[in-house]
Amino acid sequence: MNTTKHYGPYGGQYVAETLMGPLNELAAAYLEAKEDPEFQREFAALLKDYVGRESPITVCRRLSAKLGGATIALKREDLNHTGAHKVNNTIGQALLAKRMGKKRLIAETGAGMHGVATATVAALLGMPCEVYMGAIDVKRQAPNVERMKMLGATVHAIEEGSATLKDAMNEALRDWVTNCDDTFYVIGTAAGPYPYPEMVKDFQSVIGKEARRQCLEKFGRLPDQAIACVGGGSNAIGLFAGFMDDADVKLVGVEAAGKGLSTGEHAASINGGRLGVLHGAKTMLLQTADGNVIDTYSVSAGLDYPGVGPEHCHLHDTGRAEYSSITDDEAIAAFDDLCRYEGIIPALESSHALAEAIKRAPSLPKDTILLVCLSGRGDKDLENILAYKKSRSNM
Ligand SMILES: *Cc1c(COP(=O)(O)O)cnc(C)c1O
Repeated sequence: MNTTKHYGPYGGQYVAETLMGPLNELAAAYLEAKEDPEFQREFAALLKDYVGRESPITVCRRLSAKLGGATIALKREDLNHTGAHKVNNTIGQALLAKRMGKKRLIAETGAGMHGVATATVAALLGMPCEVYMGAIDVKRQAPNVERMKMLGATVHAIEEGSATLKDAMNEALRDWVTNCDDTFYVIGTAAGPYPYPEMVKDFQSVIGKEARRQCLEKFGRLPDQAIACVGGGSNAIGLFAGFMDDADVKLVGVEAAGKGLSTGEHAASINGGRLGVLHGAKTMLLQTADGNVIDTYSVSAGLDYPGVGPEHCHLHDTGRAEYSSITDDEAIAAFDDLCRYEGIIPALESSHALAEAIKRAPSLPKDTILLVCLSGRGDKDLENILAYKKSRSNM
């Protein structure tokens, strides 16, 4: 088998011995499915008929004119069914689960978006679904908990540890060890032990492949920069995958700087973390001096992952991609701009990528194209944004 278990010093399979069997079974099944035209046809058909792909590219004419430099264009993952890119991946993994004869889907979720995307495909394919979520997140993200239940999923509130995402991940891994015969663990981002980072990248690469073709059709050339926000890194690696071999296309990942990198209250694992092990893989990780995982902070719940996919760490080290960071304030300002200048309400996660493009555009020539992955729509964030603005106006 020709596999990439490692990305430089990152990645691998740092799991209990009992999980090596299930991981090997999964890797073998995935590599086989990847080469099977019937599997690829089934995946492509659901992306078209259920998700509504392909998603368009929208040029931000008014916003670009206001900035007076480069042209900003958006890859519209916000227009997918369920309102974000996550469903591309959950459909792929659920189809693989079915192919492997697994009867039950489990998932971990922080903000609840991956839980909803998994519950969605579980309903579509008629499989029972159980979602692990930290008890604190269950309280913070009540509407998504209701959505998961409405879609027929069971939500387990985890009281252990800090009762957030990393505890939910541990609990999901425990469930998988115990029930791997009939259970498939759906991981929500391009992280976790091999083969997950490769598999999630492949499923999300539809973003970059479409975008590359669409740019050639629309602009007659490739974009100068491809920019995406990075939580665990799945929408970014999906976009980057389309342009990886185009050396002239700059790849830019944007992490959440929260209240500022120097405050310690952020979620920027590459810019502010150290090498460690999380979720079964070696990665850059926000941790204390003695190696405990730190609870991350960002105004956008979806970027709140304490690690980052291993391939991003490697792309950073090799210089193929660069990784910047955007604060809460900058993301909210970009959110406002897109609402008012383009009539699009973006997710707060995606607003980080947009903010980076807004920063870069004014000093670049007019014929420069900045392609931004608009990973999701912002309806889910309205309450959050109102509360944030209220707290700022009281300061
Ligand atoms: C979950 C989420 C993200 C972050 O996840 P990645 O795996 O880094 O892509 C970004 N945008 C939206 C809209 C999300 O829901």
